[in-house]
Amino acid sequence: MNIRAYIQTLTAFTCWLAVIPSTLAAENRALKRSDVVFMYDADRQTYLDYGATVLAWGGIPTPQSREAAAGVRLYGSVGMVTEFDQYYERFPKTYQQGLCRDVDGKPVKVPWLTDLQHKGIPYWWCCTSQPLFRQYLSERVVQTVRSGADGVHIDDHMGTAGGLWLGICFCDGCVDGFRGYLQTLGPDELRRLGVERVDQFNYRDEVRRWLATGDARTPRQVTQHPLWPQWTIYQCRGAAKWMQELSELAARTAGRTVPIGANAGLLWPRHLSDYRTLDLFSAETDHHASDRTPTDLPLVAYRMADAVQRPYAATASGGDWAFIKEKNLPGLVRCWIALSYASGHCFMAPHRQWCYTPEKGTHWYDGPREKFAPLYQFVRRNADLFDEYEAYTDVGIVLPYRAFTRDAERWFDICSQLAARNISYQLLLGGDEIVDHPLSAERLNACRAVLIPDREDLQVADRRLVEQRTTKGACFNTVAEALRQVAPAVRIEAKGQVRALPRVKPGSAVIHLLNYRYNPAGDDVRPLPGVRVQLDLSALGVTGAKTCRWVTPDTDPVELPISSDTVLVPTLNLWGLLEMSAE
Ligand SMILES: [Zn+2]
Repeated sequence: MNIRAYIQTLTAFTCWLAVIPSTLAAENRALKRSDVVFMYDADRQTYLDYGATVLAWGGIPTPQSREAAAGVRLYGSVGMVTEFDQYYERFPKTYQQGLCRDVDGKPVKVPWLTDLQHKGIPYWWCCTSQPLFRQYLSERVVQTVRSGADGVHIDDHMGTAGGLWLGICFCDGCVDGFRGYLQTLGPDELRRLGVERVDQFNYRDEVRRWLATGDARTPRQVTQHPLWPQWTIYQCRGAAKWMQELSELAARTAGRTVPIGANAGLLWPRHLSDYRTLDLFSAETDHHASDRTPTDLPLVAYRMADAVQRPYAATASGGDWAFIKEKNLPGLVRCWIALSYASGHCFMAPHRQWCYTPEKGTHWYDGPREKFAPLYQFVRRNADLFDEYEAYTDVGIVLPYRAFTRDAERWFDICSQLAARNISYQLLLGGDEIVDHPLSAERLNACRAVLIPDREDLQVADRRLVEQRTTKGACFNTVAEALRQVAPAVRIEAKGQVRALPRVKPGSAVIHLLNYRYNPAGDDVRPLPGVRVQLDLSALGVTGAKTCRWVTPDTDPVELPISSDTVLVPTLNLWGLLEMSAE
């Protein structure tokens, strides 16, 4: 059976299988796909202008803020790294007990808060294994829930583990805890790792000794120590456990389940460590603003969120916002908003954004609401074209999380090559020692085609599933093979770059079209006339559709004919949706 025939045989049967698990999960999602999510508190009029439904990083609710946000679900924010001033005020005499320590015992500044001080003291990184700092965070969670927040958002949710790249933390709490972790490994593994007396093992002493015995011409780095991978597993598992404890504390305090969000930017390796505790990701996400062109990179984060069946409310990074502010490019931000909703997720309303550069430090961007709000109002008006739909899959990419952690760029490149060819991908996530996520046989088998660039990094059970799937055909080892052989269900002919993101539910499909012909000089996309959209109606589950509806933010909906499986879109501005149903 050749690949095309195989795919056609599979298609009718499998595309609904692929949809079923996530549709069931959709009922319990912390966000609807049509939600309009605010990052920070705003006034009543601003919420109304944008059609706000959720506040993801709110402060402690007050009667005034609750009134302003009537009808908006509030998440109160607790910061594990950004609240040094408040932590200090809570424990002004003893605060030093809770600070992270480097291998020499010195405290460590938060790299992106170096321009801030409190009473002459730098913003130190505090350790989430230290009882005093845990007490502070626990009190903050309780305070947030008691003040009436519907949910809790945790900024810098990895706590100490988020600073591993800085070579932390060697406080007594972390060093003592590591001994306990090592004891779980068993004697053979300990021998392999060179740990002789685990009951007396002190990792800080060991790393100091190792640093001192290196070659002076090429000084050793703490993070290169042979046990650092084990230390990383220990720290990340500790972070996940701590988040679980905070979640349980919130629920106990409220007497109900309290949804938990976190600034878990999924382009950052290891930020899935605690995904099981999280109900949503509301996270800073690189958008490469300085490239001055629309980017497919955030799609990787959205697809990663799909892989763990959780919603993702994105914002751009502090560096992105600083660039947008400096160059005044709100039109580029409009491309980001459209991509996000077209992917089935949300881009948080950019009414007030944190900007950061090492030179300027923290500053703020207040974007023009007349440019942004209409896009959000468009989503609210057409919620039924967003809420129940799931991403259609041309190809599933098997992604061992260990391989992603080691070299995220490799995976960004694979995903961007597929996105650029309008091959709609989903990520089939295989877990590792930190991320507990076994591959799903159901999802793997439901994919029409599967790309498996890395088998070595899969866990044993996952590798077995992949081998079984391989025997069924339509599996590729390289992206080049996938590009050659996978025929996407939506194909575009246009005089400029267009992204097609098909979404489906039983009997209906919505194809999002995004105009990527962005012109930085005019800060807008150049309209694309005569976009030809060729559809595989059977693959999309809308066999027999003769017409479709063309719905855009800036024009009235019109009906367009589907003739010979092709739709001709008269003009594509920023974004439009083709809605069609099975006959
Ligand atoms: Zn520590």
